[in-house]
Amino acid sequence: MLLPKVYQIQSVTQESQDVFSLALSAKEGEAPSFLPGQFNMLYLFGFGEVPISISGDPSKKGEFVHTIRLAGAVTKAMQKLQKGDEIGVRGPFGTHWPLSQKDCDVLVIAGGLGLAPLRPALFHLAAHRKQYKKITLLYGTRTPEDILYKEELQQWERQGIEVKVSVDRADASWRGHVGVITTLISKYLTAPQNTQVLVCGPEIMIKFAIHELLRTEIDERAIYLSMERNMQCAVGFCGHCQYGPYFLCKDGPVFSYEPLKTWLTIKELQIGSNQRNSPQTSRMEVCLL
Ligand SMILES: Cc1cc2nc3c(=O)[nH]c(=O)nc-3n(C[C@H](O)[C@H](O)[C@H](O)COP(=O)(O)OP(=O)(O)OC[C@H]3O[C@@H](n4cnc5c(N)ncnc54)[C@H](O)[C@@H]3O)c2cc1C
Repeated sequence: MLLPKVYQIQSVTQESQDVFSLALSAKEGEAPSFLPGQFNMLYLFGFGEVPISISGDPSKKGEFVHTIRLAGAVTKAMQKLQKGDEIGVRGPFGTHWPLSQKDCDVLVIAGGLGLAPLRPALFHLAAHRKQYKKITLLYGTRTPEDILYKEELQQWERQGIEVKVSVDRADASWRGHVGVITTLISKYLTAPQNTQVLVCGPEIMIKFAIHELLRTEIDERAIYLSMERNMQCAVGFCGHCQYGPYFLCKDGPVFSYEPLKTWLTIKELQIGSNQRNSPQTSRMEVCLL
């Protein structure tokens, strides 16, 4: 688990201006299976290693797909990768979204790149559509150009998932909803006592999502969150991702809201925009499922 295995880039997909996906297959043997919500450590030789969620279809064996946004040195170097290039992979690591409870509604709330860690869950939900009651995806982006996985959004709709996309700023051609995605929660959460909620996105969206959800009769234990922080070893040794009593890499990234709520309210543990730009401070984003 500490030594990367060599993988080869099978394809590169530009998802939006600053987001791209890499499909990888193992150079020797086969990529292990993974559960929706887990992540890998991607190591670019000569640049460094970063945690990235697995964003592909969990039923497709032998391949890892990762969707990456340009952030700094490592992700920018990864953008230059082409088919046939090599990359190191450690993983999969971490906990997964709880999809085993059937016969309930599932409400998936994604903001921006937060759709990437949720995409494997959506593939699973679509493939097992009949085992659940109502499935809804609420997905918010800044502009229509930032919408990821456009074909799959349509495909999931055809498979019986209600998909509502909202943008913060529309152009003249946009015919959909305008406004922050959390304003749609009360409309689409119609059976709060029998719904599992999956949310992933920027911290501010998460806060508003929690606020909206807790105004209903939803059980706190039906809300799950996936935490993001500076991670280095990914196996709970180095302590970089310690969050209260937890190591986010091995106890998370997916948590139920209930055990985390005490820690989420501590201001010093939250990330502010000034902290986010500082390489000296730990990094955190929150995903709520
Ligand atoms: C479990 C987990 C899953 C992740 N999944 C994805 C994914 O699917 N796709 C993706 O694009 N990114 C994902 N990330 C974030 C990704 O790891 C960082 O963007 C990456 O490490 C940046 O590395 P860099 O060298 O390119 O930039 P750096 O130079 O290290 O960082 C550039 C800027 O981004 C900020 N930053 C870096 N990492 C984070 C972070 N985790 N949270 C908030 N701000 C950060 C830095 O403070 C700095 O301001 C995930 C992180 C974790 C912990």
